[in-house]
Amino acid sequence: MRLRELGRPVAPAELVPVNQRRVGEEILLTSPFGDWAFVTEAELGALRQGALERGSELWNKLATRRLVRSELDLAEAVAGFWRRRRFVEHGPSHHLVVVTRRGGAPAASEPARETPADMTASTAEQVVDFALRSTSPELTLALAGGEPLAAMPVVRHLVDHALEKNRAYGKALELVLLTGLAGIADADLDFVVARRMRIVARLDATLFAPGGGAEREAARTLFARDVARVHERYRGLGLDPALYHVEVELVAPPTAWVAGAASGAALVDALAALGCRSFALAPPEGLDPRGGYLDFHRAALERALGLGLAGSGPRERHAALFLRQILLGEAPSEVAIRSPAASAVGTLAYDCDGRIYTSDTGRRLRDRGDDFFQLGDVAVTRYRELMTHETVRALLFASIREAQPDCAACPYAPYCGVEPEQSYALQGSIFGRMRESFACALHKGLQDWLFAALGRGDAAVRAVLEAWSKPEVRAHFVHSSVAS
Ligand code: SF4
Repeated sequence: MRLRELGRPVAPAELVPVNQRRVGEEILLTSPFGDWAFVTEAELGALRQGALERGSELWNKLATRRLVRSELDLAEAVAGFWRRRRFVEHGPSHHLVVVTRRGGAPAASEPARETPADMTASTAEQVVDFALRSTSPELTLALAGGEPLAAMPVVRHLVDHALEKNRAYGKALELVLLTGLAGIADADLDFVVARRMRIVARLDATLFAPGGGAEREAARTLFARDVARVHERYRGLGLDPALYHVEVELVAPPTAWVAGAASGAALVDALAALGCRSFALAPPEGLDPRGGYLDFHRAALERALGLGLAGSGPRERHAALFLRQILLGEAPSEVAIRSPAASAVGTLAYDCDGRIYTSDTGRRLRDRGDDFFQLGDVAVTRYRELMTHETVRALLFASIREAQPDCAACPYAPYCGVEPEQSYALQGSIFGRMRESFACALHKGLQDWLFAALGRGDAAVRAVLEAWSKPEVRAHFVHSSVAS
């Protein structure tokens, strides 16, 4: 057959614009409003020929999924489109503060030129004062390092200053400690629990990989002991263990996933045994997830789903973030997968010396001698100056998925986002090239798994995924008013 004899596809006039992708045996269609449906190969063939007969089975299926123009409530669809992006109206809500460069992983602990090892008390106060000027009614102050436990005097000072100052602002304030956790002193744990700080343990997933000898076994035992200490405190306060537990963020280098699917399942079993009900998994930045990592991650999801079907299992946070948009049509609660990106408009990062960056990824580039994403300094910069900074404008435009050549044709665009700072760090361009992008491969791989699970049409599976998609409301950790 000659090329010109091939029929030209004609979309039915009644079909809402869709992008498509084969997922398992069927074809996924998604609309720019985030609505989606699966069709069979034959149904797609009919649609390609412009056939969509009113009242047919296919019409009814697509109409129920809001993919038929005349059956679509346009005002509601537009409202939903903006609901997914409501974060753009709020200002930065997530503020990451590096209180020390000591401790932690070697790369993070290595001080950049001229950067002090610890934040001073007066810089900590300036950071808090600056963050509180955000127009966002919700504010998260995440204290990181290095290892923040190595600089508890400044952590204590910053936290108490934030609580005191927020009496006037009345923002919904959350305080988070990003820590390796192991070896936390009793007095420090008392402080963290008394100030209602969330604890997020940042770890190398290799800790949970099988084997590793006596040294790794000792590290595992120490971590398990400290997680148990935290959980015991929460139980003492009468907090529900399903909501109040140590959250875990794991970076998994190849040593953690070399054993493939079995090690993904073993990882989830180990976390569940510790009582951790929420974890986030990622490969090291820049490592192509298609080289075996995705199998490991998907095996972890499959295991978590299996435990969920049996009654209770941990949720994986990246999957939950996508599901929140896919199933609930809600804006992502975290900053990593927003479009436009969260850079400055959703998040800011502060280094030990008070320099302000568009995000933590932007801040980390400083250690490579690149201050491209520095927006100012808490000592001198005004909030308005920072929000109208030309770098912020450029990052916003560069990160709109629908304006990216590959993303514009991708069915996952309504739920997806890539940090422009990461594209810059790995590809030298804030726009990035999605075909070679590590983040794109990861997001595509995870959403393929999620849609394949949803496409099974199994009510029990759907119920577990819906449970993952619901925001975890931990009111105990929110300091919301002058009464806090
Ligand atoms: S980043 Fe990749 S997965 Fe996400 S919308 Fe773009 S092409 Fe699709």
